[in-house]
Amino acid sequence: MKAIRLYEAGHLELNDVPVPEIGDHELLVKVRAASICGTDVRMWKSGAAHASKEHPLILGHEFAGDIAKVGAAVKGYAAGDRVSVAPNIGCGHCDACVSGNTHLCDDMQAFGVTMDGGFAEYVRIPENAIVQGNISKLGDAISYEAAALVEPLSCVYNGQTLLGIRPGDDVLLIGLGPIGIMHIMTARILGAGKIYVNDLSEERIEQACRLLPGVLPIHGDVKEGIKQYGIKGVDVCIIAAPAADAQAASLEYMNMNGKLLFFGGLPDHKKIVPINTNLLHYKQLTIQGCTRQSISEYRKCAKLVDDGRIPLDLIMSDAYSIEDFETAFANAAAAKGLKHVFRFDGAGSENV
Ligand SMILES: [Zn+2]
Ligand SMILES: [Zn+2]
Repeated sequence: MKAIRLYEAGHLELNDVPVPEIGDHELLVKVRAASICGTDVRMWKSGAAHASKEHPLILGHEFAGDIAKVGAAVKGYAAGDRVSVAPNIGCGHCDACVSGNTHLCDDMQAFGVTMDGGFAEYVRIPENAIVQGNISKLGDAISYEAAALVEPLSCVYNGQTLLGIRPGDDVLLIGLGPIGIMHIMTARILGAGKIYVNDLSEERIEQACRLLPGVLPIHGDVKEGIKQYGIKGVDVCIIAAPAADAQAASLEYMNMNGKLLFFGGLPDHKKIVPINTNLLHYKQLTIQGCTRQSISEYRKCAKLVDDGRIPLDLIMSDAYSIEDFETAFANAAAAKGLKHVFRFDGAGSENV
């Protein structure tokens, strides 16, 4: 089968590798769609702990497909089932795992990060992923492409439910890449009031206004922009960009009792951000962080998409065959469009 493997920093290759063998307690998934994430781009540029010249790693943690083979001892799944795969697998027995937070496990494994992932025609699903519920059967309405995007959507959902947006809260969204767009879609589901949007790129502001009519653009200086809309501040601010300056400035945009979500990591050399803690104190603000998603959140998001409540298909701007991986990665790295998705045709699953 064809697979995109990371060897070391800057070195990706399309390789022909054997289709994985599965044991009695495992599944084989035929991948139908897999999307490129900022994490994949970072791993390509900087290398990764679990990829080396000797042991290249198949990337891809956002993917969906069909079950191609079912191990003799596996119950509840059948060949041909349409499924998506939540990537993070816990140890199963630590305090985080037993509380349902397998994504917060210290010994977490993840498809495409610590083990072979979805940028390949087939993926072996180990037993612990099956018993923890990482494999979700898809509804009839959701496309494979949208199902692949449920992973980042559920990271967004995790952040916003931790944050606790209340109906009518005015929200400011800074950073209008695919994650920012998903934040807007999710905030609407949660009953947000007005949604103001800002990005350094005018093109991205226009794109957000086009995809999600009704959002209110702020161009240039954010504080000034808020004033021009005739309000003093916002109830919620979400920073969906790796921008230390934006994080530091965001406390100034807030109403009393405001809540901020700093979504996504910063580069190592920028991770210490000076913030005005007097604003935090006197405005009684809350700053929330978040990472990954629980299996339960993942499944809820898959349902929201299947029910047509969150139109994730809007976010897929470009589709590629796996042979065009260089173009796909270059476009993702250049932040062209929104989500870049590999599509695999259905052929081949009969011949495994
Ligand atoms: Zn991702
Ligand atoms: Zn654990």
